[in-house]
Amino acid sequence: MRKQIVAGNWKMNNDLAQTETLIANLKAQTKTTNAEVMIAPTATNLWHAYNSTKGTGIEVIAQNMHFAENGAYTGEVSAAMLKSIGINTVILGHSERREYFNETDETLAKKVDAALAKGMRIIFCFGEELADRKAGNEEAVVGSQIKNALFHLAAADFQNIVLAYEPVWAIGTGETATADQAQDMHAFIRKTLADKYGNDVADEVSILYGGSVKPANAEEIFSKPDVDGGLIGGAALNAEDFFGIVNAF
Ligand code: PGA
Repeated sequence: MRKQIVAGNWKMNNDLAQTETLIANLKAQTKTTNAEVMIAPTATNLWHAYNSTKGTGIEVIAQNMHFAENGAYTGEVSAAMLKSIGINTVILGHSERREYFNETDETLAKKVDAALAKGMRIIFCFGEELADRKAGNEEAVVGSQIKNALFHLAAADFQNIVLAYEPVWAIGTGETATADQAQDMHAFIRKTLADKYGNDVADEVSILYGGSVKPANAEEIFSKPDVDGGLIGGAALNAEDFFGIVNAF
């Protein structure tokens, strides 16, 4: 059975006091599903969040990291630093990192290797832009994002990889892919993995959908056979909304 996962990507939101409040509100919610629950606060609040969620079953994860072990990379955070404060999972390749921080498939392949070398789990994000979809190129774009960043890996590495399909046109726009559009792409992603690594690997990898997931649309999206959960932005900033999504399985 594939893991069901709902991860909240807080992006550059919530200072320390707001982080404390949101975590307190999250702790007041009840989980009624088997889904794993993760939250990704900003880097300055990871240590606090890690400590204040101990024993709750909520995993605190990072939004990004650098590929170097350490050294002269002003402003960056390494896998070893994350591990040293108890963070074992990192989001890599989010479209905002690709767009605003020039992250390429090549950079991301290095980040993937660095995280895996430290035994971390990765939520690897990718997705097409609106122009790609309008031109009917969404599968070609997604296929090459996956191949370029991940296909140098060994089959066993996929035990530590979760995929997140996030069509750029649906992120923060209020426009969601329909559940059928999500399912079609997730099936394509799984087939892409199966063609390279075989069905056993492809069947085990959790594929999350991201892009304007809300309590009102989560149930339909999560009901699709190849959708194993969600990466949630805006709706993860409210504890009731977030657990409305967690409990939609
Ligand atoms: P959104 O963001 O839910 O606000 O669309 C999703 C994401 O960027 O992961």
